[in-house]
Amino acid sequence: MFNSLSDRLTATFKNLRGKGRLSEADIDGTAREIRRALLDADVAVPVVREFIAKIKARALGAEVSEALNPGQQVVKIVNEELVGILGGDTRELRLAKNPPTVIMLAGLQGAGKTTLAGKLAAHLKGKGHTPILAACDLQRPNAVNQLQVGGERAGVPVFAPHPGISSEAETPTGDPVQVARDAVSEARSKLHDIVIIDTAGRLGVDQELMRQAADIKAAVGAHETLFVIDSMIGQDAVNTAQAFNEGVDFTGVVLTKLDGDARGGAALSVAQVTGKPVMYASTGEGLKDFEVFHPDRMARRILDMGDVLSLIEQAEQSWDKAEAAKMAQKFADQEDFTLEDFRSQMQQLKKMGSMKKLLGMMPGAQGMRQQLDQFDDSSVDRIEAIINSMTPHERVAPKIINGSRRARIAKGSGVHVSEVNQLLERFGQAQKMMKKMAGGGGMPGGMPGMP
Ligand code: GDP
Repeated sequence: MFNSLSDRLTATFKNLRGKGRLSEADIDGTAREIRRALLDADVAVPVVREFIAKIKARALGAEVSEALNPGQQVVKIVNEELVGILGGDTRELRLAKNPPTVIMLAGLQGAGKTTLAGKLAAHLKGKGHTPILAACDLQRPNAVNQLQVGGERAGVPVFAPHPGISSEAETPTGDPVQVARDAVSEARSKLHDIVIIDTAGRLGVDQELMRQAADIKAAVGAHETLFVIDSMIGQDAVNTAQAFNEGVDFTGVVLTKLDGDARGGAALSVAQVTGKPVMYASTGEGLKDFEVFHPDRMARRILDMGDVLSLIEQAEQSWDKAEAAKMAQKFADQEDFTLEDFRSQMQQLKKMGSMKKLLGMMPGAQGMRQQLDQFDDSSVDRIEAIINSMTPHERVAPKIINGSRRARIAKGSGVHVSEVNQLLERFGQAQKMMKKMAGGGGMPGGMPGMP
């Protein structure tokens, strides 16, 4: 996520670190580097220009020259201005006074609308809403089916046009405006409080497409129109966003494919250029690869200051409280940490989503990107498989796991014996560390023995 931009910015700030005073030349040099980094990341030229002017004006002013640590003060300024570019405060979904709230998705074909519809529905359902999805993309073959699959995964019903639901190869027929109207009536009669409308996109901006989206919006009186944009599309993002802003006057932006390693900076320009806030981000193809977009947290991630708040929130959403309390009690009682406990912690962590992504939210994560890039999420599954292949007794008393047991466990879990050895060795070290911590009254933190 914004990896190369992040690398460039953090490298620039390294040069400022520890300087007692910043000369005008230091500030000019830093501004130049930041400018280049933003342009190389595809941030739109006018956005970069304004950003740099603000940074320079502030960096030359009293808040930096009088700061105890001028380098850090500059980072703080860049952080604040970056939050500004990204839209300032987090923008919550505006719910209609009289349900259902109608949310319409608009954007080019392939932007990720249909995928997002399922994720957004799952997210809202998790918050206690009762959404329904409306399949109004009647142009792309298979879009209705795809939405139905997404709805099924999210556990949310899908309203689709009646006659002519597509088979794989066919395109469904029907009038998308009418389908949208019917979906809203359906929501009203079945007491769904939110309708999410998936609309058709085209490969490029065209009048017909825009008119259809505007017609749907007007017909159902959408409360929120979300412009969905692929963050990898480069400098074209600004033109596309402007066209949609004029065509459908959207109320918020969703950035998709933020998991890609592309420069992604064009997406950073969209909020600034259109004056509409980024509300959500999509970071993969899975249902959970979705986040509410917090400009302040995203800026911290880009500047490698970590996004601990999101990490905690994800933990709160996924961790089983009873399990966590049980674990805490075990430590308080100084009971042995067993491989059963280890496996259960790992399962809890897995529920939070990709380990790679979670680690990426830690402060300083960008600095260990190479290790992170090499981190293989499937290694977690392999560790789990190894532990699953042990007998319950082996899990609580790993000392008994001798050579022949190791060979049996390796065979059972489909790994090499060296992986079993490695796990046991790391587990042994972690167990010792935990004992020390419990003895010292401290709580254990994080995952022991992770690769
Ligand atoms: P639509 O035409 O706007 O409805 O786009 P789709 O939802 O069909 O998405 C187009 C392609 O992008 C599909 O292959 C999706 O699986 C993929 N996709 C959507 N969102 C993301 C994302 O956040 N990350 C990645 N890596 N792929 C995505």
